[in-house]
Amino acid sequence: MEKILEVTNLQVTFTTYGGTVKAVRGVDFHLNKGETLAIVGESGCGKSVTSNAIMRLIPNPPGKITAGSIVFKGKDLAKYSEKRMRSIRGVDISMIFQDPMTALNPTLTIGTQLMEGLISHHGVSSKEAKKKAIEMMDLVGISNPEERLKQYPHQFSGGMRQRIVIAIALICEPDLLIADEPTTALDVTIQAQILELFEKIQAATGVSIILITHDLGVVAKIADRIAVMYAGKIIETGTKREIFYKPQHPYTQGLLNSVPRLDLKGEKLIPIDGTPPDLFSPPAGCPFTARCPFAMEVCDKVYPASKELTESHQVNCWLQDERAKQLLTAVPLSK
Ligand code: SF4
Ligand code: MG
Repeated sequence: MEKILEVTNLQVTFTTYGGTVKAVRGVDFHLNKGETLAIVGESGCGKSVTSNAIMRLIPNPPGKITAGSIVFKGKDLAKYSEKRMRSIRGVDISMIFQDPMTALNPTLTIGTQLMEGLISHHGVSSKEAKKKAIEMMDLVGISNPEERLKQYPHQFSGGMRQRIVIAIALICEPDLLIADEPTTALDVTIQAQILELFEKIQAATGVSIILITHDLGVVAKIADRIAVMYAGKIIETGTKREIFYKPQHPYTQGLLNSVPRLDLKGEKLIPIDGTPPDLFSPPAGCPFTARCPFAMEVCDKVYPASKELTESHQVNCWLQDERAKQLLTAVPLSK
């Protein structure tokens, strides 16, 4: 499979009055062409920072990419100048955020906002741009597109606005779409429609998608592969099937136990006790130690190496490492 994006050892910090927050602490993942990778985790785990780093949208200061490479179609975006990045954003890589209202300009018609990118980046004539805008409105399921292009954002419902945001993100035919909690602000029925729309768009355009979410229900619907993030690290990666049916990291297992599942009716939901570690001074070992029911002495001291369970399934947990059993006595932490 052709890789469209490969992120290696990405590290991002934010300097504040209180010290330096290590928000992303050496993240590795890749995205294959035409697939959807979901990056999942609780708020503050570094998933949005990771996606903003790919777009080089980390405000510096206070933020900084301190290490790593972001290879997109063979070129390292981490080395790009801001000027060069500007020619990529919205053209080769597009991003959709949670709140469709802030992404749209209330003073401009939908048509103007849709056509803007095409005209400014591709030098397309306004007649051509309008034709493409109508096509995109059609693709995202907005009826009567010709008339609706003349309307303003407030004349659309929240769900419709998010459809428009998606149309804008896709009009320049990007190879990569990053969607950060794209359905969080919407009600459940609309959420389902927007997720279906992502599937439809991917089938129609072949765009590769990174979906950032805290919601495993969303992931179950459209992801091909899943990367689970915790305390600035990816702790488990696998296909949707591997993560949902054979989760190996206790944190992934905890996440799955804390969300309602249609296939396990009547099972009790178990929230994960405790809170993630302080990223001003993250632990040297496994960051889940303080919350993990299986924690051993070694966990707190040494970060577990990535263990390959299958070609697609990797996990960072001492439970998967033979050496934990051989070299160190397992001492359960008192809970
Ligand atoms: Fe739990 Fe240790 Fe695995 Fe971390 S490395 S998840 S503390 S068993
Ligand atoms: Mg976020």
